[in-house]
Amino acid sequence: MPGLLELENVRKDYALKGKRRVLTAVDGVSLRLERGEILGLVGESGCGKSTLARLVVRLERPDAGRVRINGEDVWSAPGAARRLPALVQMVFQDPFASLNPRQTVGWSVGEGLRALGIGTRAGRRRRTAELFRQVGLRPEHMGRYPHQFSGGQRQRAAIARALAVNPSLLVCDEPVSALDVSVQAQIINLLLDLRDRLGLAMLFISHDLAVVGLVGDRTAVMHRGSIVEAGPTT
Ligand code: ADP
Ligand code: MG
Repeated sequence: MPGLLELENVRKDYALKGKRRVLTAVDGVSLRLERGEILGLVGESGCGKSTLARLVVRLERPDAGRVRINGEDVWSAPGAARRLPALVQMVFQDPFASLNPRQTVGWSVGEGLRALGIGTRAGRRRRTAELFRQVGLRPEHMGRYPHQFSGGQRQRAAIARALAVNPSLLVCDEPVSALDVSVQAQIINLLLDLRDRLGLAMLFISHDLAVVGLVGDRTAVMHRGSIVEAGPTT
């Protein structure tokens, strides 16, 4: 049976401005993630973690190798691009990347449902309220704007937005790196709780080994575009 996520020898090059050479940001990465599993990915700044995350969610196209979700190549399987948003969602370091500052947080959380044409208006409102509860936010606050939330609350809302379509995989790129340490622990506990309740798989990325150690079932260490070490989190 294919894994939920499979990367096979994935490479991503970026052209260097004004030079003939390219920078290989991701260099022959292979990895496999099972349903409900959390893989922690750690490595110093600039080693290619975010590029890898963008390759997984199909925001970048590999120059070589394959990215498969449920055994389907996300670039070549017919209809894979259309099915992907309902399977894989991303959480960024900065929640403002996924919350529109001019719209209420409830609006942003429900946006994915509207975009995919899921449910009626009333149904989406109920689902949004349920998502607020699921991430520890009060449904009464659906009408507030992002700036009226704390940093931790905004990250909870970004997580709710990612969960709206019921994905199988969450790609979390430094989701706690901008938060105070006490709030980091709350968000990590929320993610672990969601995995247990929803059977969600996660690729959890951080530059901080201590953080990744709290989260991953397995940890992979990235260095200069390659996975140099992988094993169970100790
Ligand atoms: P990390 O997330 O581990 O800090 P990144 O994946 O953001 O690393 O970056 C890896 C390398 O690729 C860095 O050297 C970065 O400068 C380069 N890079 C990332 N994105 C681009 C891009 N869009 N164009 C050119 N170079 C890029
Ligand atoms: Mg990064």
